[in-house]
Parts: sequence; structure tokens; C-alpha cells
Amino acid sequence: MIIITDEQCTGYRQAGHPERPERIAATASKLRAQTELPVRWSLPGSVEDAALLRAHSQEHLDRLRDDRDFDPDTPWHPGIEKYARSSAAAALTALKLAREGKSVFSLMRPPGHHATRTRAMGFCYLNNIAVACLEALATGCKRIGVFDFDVHHGNGTEAILLNRPGAYFASIHQFPCYPGSGTRNVGDNCFNYPVAPKTAREEYRHIISSALEHLAGLKPQMIAVSAGFDCYARDPLAQELLEIEDFHWIGESIRKLGIPTFSLLEGGYSDDLPELIFAYLKGIDSK
Ligand SMILES: [Zn+2]
Repeated sequence: MIIITDEQCTGYRQAGHPERPERIAATASKLRAQTELPVRWSLPGSVEDAALLRAHSQEHLDRLRDDRDFDPDTPWHPGIEKYARSSAAAALTALKLAREGKSVFSLMRPPGHHATRTRAMGFCYLNNIAVACLEALATGCKRIGVFDFDVHHGNGTEAILLNRPGAYFASIHQFPCYPGSGTRNVGDNCFNYPVAPKTAREEYRHIISSALEHLAGLKPQMIAVSAGFDCYARDPLAQELLEIEDFHWIGESIRKLGIPTFSLLEGGYSDDLPELIFAYLKGIDSK
């Protein structure tokens, strides 16, 4: 398992904000301390504007340098452009490693799946997974699937990939919940699975299985995973009920599809995040 991370991504914070540097620092410590899963470490690398501009407008890239908050959840931070670009670069590195047949997880912040073509929102500044998918499609991949199991709807990814030939998007998320979208399928390639708060784990797993089966049926050559761990029972931002073993099961279910895959960290705000990620990685990696 290759973990892409950079301790520099812990360099910004807003007091009291749930998307905090400890999410990454504690997970990296956990992964360094364990011996069960062999881990190699990689740095994110860098990203060219051309790759970002497939997913975002030039105005949006410029806006990252303008020191005004984007919304109450999504403050401007000194250097946020650098942090956001590094997280997007990690997504491209993850894509590259997955193409080489490696198991890979990007342990970076900020997350990306709420960022639209023109707007930062929901703790997200650049849409890392959309940048990686559009890179894949521009460089020889004919069909790519996005599987988004973060508890919030991946509205930004959906908006960017909507009706893009070769891109398929599936999101399982709590509804009602932020950002309030994702109640039905849209276009010919975006499939939404809204789930009521406090849905029983068995039912939640059943919905995930159906979504994965449908996505695999579209015959993608690769699956990019927006891995959010806020559907956990003790996450402070949502009301779903998944337990640690469910994240192992999700990883295993993705692996069993037998399709090359890479995963990017999205949300997950409980103190148990390192354990949840570790369980997921063992599921993705187990032979
Ligand atoms: Zn989330």
C-alpha cells in the first residue's frame, strides 16, 4: 500500500473547525506505528495549471489567491492555493501509481468533492478527484468510475463530470444533509443514492453493494474513490451508523471488483478517523 502524504498539509487551521490538521497527523502516526499492513510513503508532487483547468475556471484558480473567505465553512487561509494544489497533485500521483498496478491512498487535505468548477465550498477548494478523472480521460483511459462514499453528496464532482463522455459518478450519502443535493440521478452518468439519517448498517451496506455493482456494470477501466469516513456512527457531522468493520468491508468490496482503483481522503471528523482509514486500507489491500 502506498500512502501519499506531506506533513506540510497540516500547516493551516481555523480554531474549532472540524477539518483539522490532526486528521492527517494522527492517521500518519497510526500507519507508521502499525506492522500489519506494509506501507510505502510517497510525496504528492506538483500539478500544472493545464490539469486543474480541465475541472476549474481560470477565475477560480485566481480566486484562491484572494484573501476573502469563500463561505462560513470554507475560510481563506494564507497559502491555501499551495495546499489545495498539493492535494490535487496527490490525486494525480495516485492515478499514476494505480495505472502501474499499485494500491494507493492519498492522505491529504483539503478534501475536494464539494468544490465546483467555479466555487470553493464545504471545506473543499479544488476538486481533486475530478482533476484526476479528467486527467485519466485525457491520457488514454476510455471509461472511469467515481465511487463516493463520503456521507455528504459529492455535488462538485457531479457538477464537473455531468454528461462527460467516459465518466461515471456514484454517490452514497445522507439526505437530508449538507449540501442538500443528490436526491436523484442526473444527466446520463451521475447516479445518486440518498440514504435517510440513522439507516441501519445492513441496509446501508446493501445500498453500497447495489451502487458498486451498478458502477462496475458500466465497465470502467478504473475506479477513483472519494473515501469519506463521516458515515461513521460517531462522526460529529452526520447521523449514519457505520462501524469500523463496515469500512473494512467497503475496502474489500471495492477490491473484489478487480478493477484498478485509487482512493482519496475526503471527510471523516471523528477522533477514530485513523482506525477507520486503517480498516479501509486493509480491506482494499488484503489478498
Ligand atoms: Zn463529508
